Amino acid sequence: MVRSITQWTKTLSFPARIAPNKSKDSAKNGQVSPNITPTPSNSSLSCHTVKNNEINYMMNNNCSSLTEVNQIYSDPESEKAIMSSVVYCIHHKEGCKWSDELRKLKAHLNTCKHDAIPCTSKCGAQIPRVLMEDHLKYTCAQRRTRCEFCNKEFSGHALDNHTGTCGSEPLYCENKCGVKIHRRHLSQHKISDCSKRLVPCRYCIKEFVADTLPTHHLKCGRVPVQCPNRCDANILAREDLETHLKEDCSVSVLNCTFKEAGCRFKGPRLSMEQHLEEYCQQHLQLMCGVVSKQQHQIASLKSALSRLSLNYSGTLIWKISDFSMKIAEAKTKEGMELVSPPFYTSQYGYKLQASLFPNGNGAGEDTHISVYIKILPGEYDALLRWPFAHSVSFTLFDQSTCPEKACNILESFIPDPTWKNFQRPSKEPDSLGFGFPKFVSHEMLKKRSFMKDDVLFIRVKVDPSKIVAV
Ligand SMILES: [Zn+2]
Ligand SMILES: [Zn+2]
Ligand SMILES: [Zn+2]
Ligand SMILES: [Zn+2]
Ligand SMILES: [Zn+2]
Ligand SMILES: [Zn+2]
Ligand SMILES: [Zn+2]
Repeated sequence: MVRSITQWTKTLSFPARIAPNKSKDSAKNGQVSPNITPTPSNSSLSCHTVKNNEINYMMNNNCSSLTEVNQIYSDPESEKAIMSSVVYCIHHKEGCKWSDELRKLKAHLNTCKHDAIPCTSKCGAQIPRVLMEDHLKYTCAQRRTRCEFCNKEFSGHALDNHTGTCGSEPLYCENKCGVKIHRRHLSQHKISDCSKRLVPCRYCIKEFVADTLPTHHLKCGRVPVQCPNRCDANILAREDLETHLKEDCSVSVLNCTFKEAGCRFKGPRLSMEQHLEEYCQQHLQLMCGVVSKQQHQIASLKSALSRLSLNYSGTLIWKISDFSMKIAEAKTKEGMELVSPPFYTSQYGYKLQASLFPNGNGAGEDTHISVYIKILPGEYDALLRWPFAHSVSFTLFDQSTCPEKACNILESFIPDPTWKNFQRPSKEPDSLGFGFPKFVSHEMLKKRSFMKDDVLFIRVKVDPSKIVAV
């Protein structure tokens, strides 16, 4: 066998120190001293390293056989020296302990158990002698062997092809259903038996994992059901049943439309129309009852609301809109009076109301606007001092855009305790009030900005201090 030199020179190395006695012999036999660097005759053989008493010869790929080495060394003396060098076997690293002169290496390799030789069954592989037995038994393409699953006999090569395709090999289903099954049955299993395969619900057509389908059927909206009233409706989808019972089922027992109003009639849809016709009168009565009940509720809500919005400050700012229209109206309607929202002097104080005659009253009739204050019966009158003795002032605001130039009109008084108007009012208060019949003349009202955008602002202030503002 001709071995490429690169095959074994890659690991070719000179022993650093062989047994001391051998070392002496070697020296005599011309062993290369660690200090001597052999000089290659051309670049294809080079000494790479001289290190730690070990000389490594590495030959490059251009050099392909020992014969060529002989040719490289034209100097017979150098060649002799090289060939006498003591080297390890090229399989030193795999465990071969052989070491001798380089010239004997080729002969050693013919028997070295780590050296590769062609497979004895002629499969074409190069196998180290030591591994041949295993190769012939387990990996040689020419071996005869049986498949562990189907037990058929194959050549090694055919078995390699057979492995991974044997129909008798048991495999786990890839859907993770937990089933282990022969390869040849696997695809059928996945189509028709596997509990984890996807199957469409036959009612709603959506796909589900096979073993969840029974649970889905329990709630699938498209599952057909019968009307529980056994009406003549055809089979219904489960999700449509509720609407059917509410809106369509002819047998469904319904409450009368006027149930909320108090009708207790219940009957199938068919008889409902008849009931509504026959009981028209009764239903109307029930509705009247509902309306009057709601009216009471509205009234009590209104009074609650007005309680919430009541003014307890003792000061009322009264806004009167469309005033020119109101004067015009008052000129044709004798005694027309506008009244303010009631207000309190304090939370538990007197209840008061202002009134205004746009076309005047008494001495101011036709020429002035007149303003008065009235005492209304209040909730805490029993606890209050009588007669009413707070000072009262009326202010007509000048709505000038320039507040410094504004000039309001103000009138005020302190009640005289003898005046009847300031005694505790009865449950049915008279229309009497007290105030100023000639509060502001119609002439004056046109001046300045007392009336702006046809709106008047009058402040009525009630003050327990009895200080009369001027
Ligand atoms: Zn060897
Ligand atoms: Zn082989
Ligand atoms: Zn097989
Ligand atoms: Zn499966
Ligand atoms: Zn479904
Ligand atoms: Zn029905
Ligand atoms: Zn009814």
